[in-house]
Amino acid sequence: MRILLAEDDPMIADGLARALRKSSYAVDHVNNGTEADTALASQQYDLLILDLGLPKLPGIEVLKRLRARKNALPVLILTAQDGLEDRVRGLDAGADDYMTKPFALPELEARVRALTRRGTAMPNRIEFGCLSYDQGERVARCNGQILDLSARELALLEILLLRVGRLVSKDQLVDHLCGWGEEVSTNAIEVYIHRLRKKLEPSQVRINTMRGLGYSLVKPDGTDG
Ligand code: CA
Repeated sequence: MRILLAEDDPMIADGLARALRKSSYAVDHVNNGTEADTALASQQYDLLILDLGLPKLPGIEVLKRLRARKNALPVLILTAQDGLEDRVRGLDAGADDYMTKPFALPELEARVRALTRRGTAMPNRIEFGCLSYDQGERVARCNGQILDLSARELALLEILLLRVGRLVSKDQLVDHLCGWGEEVSTNAIEVYIHRLRKKLEPSQVRINTMRGLGYSLVKPDGTDG
C-alpha cells in the first residue's frame, strides 16, 4: 500500500509519515502542489492525503488535475478548522473524505484504512499454495497460522505475491521496500530474501532465484500460478 502525502507543514508531515510507516504503509512525501501533481502523474498510489493549502499549486488544483486524468485514486483532504468552504469545494472536486486540522492520528489512520480498503483495485486477500496474505490486515498466514514476519519481510512477500507468475527484480524489491519507508541496499535484499525464505519453509512455498534477473514464488508442486 503506497500513499502520497502532500503536506507543506513539516511538523504535520513528519508526524503523519512516521505514524503511517509504523503501520506498514509506504509513504512518499511532497511539500508542494507541483511535486504532488508530478508524482501522481508518474507513480501508482493507493491513496492521496492532500493538504489543500499547498504552495506552488493549490491542493484543489492537484485534485482537479488528478480527476481530469480519470484517475479514481482515493483522496483524503486535510483542511483548516474553519475551512468549511474548502471542504465543500474539495468534496465537489472529487475528494473521498476530509479531516480538519488539528486531527487525532488514530482517527486519521482509521479513515486511511477505510479508504485504502475501498479504493484498491487489488484483491484484499491473496492466496498462494497454503499461504494467504491479507492486505487490509497486513498479515500473512500459512494454513491459517499467522507468520511472524518483520515489516521488511512482509513487504517483500507482498510484492512477490502481487506479481505471482512473474519475476521481480532486485531493483523492484528495493523500490517497493523504500516505498514502505524501509531504506535498503540492493545487497541487503539477498539477506532479507534469505530470512523470508526460512520463514516460509513451513508453507513449502519457495522463493526461486533467477540469477541476475530476480525472484519469483513457486508452489510445492513447482507451479507458479
Ligand atoms: Ca498547508
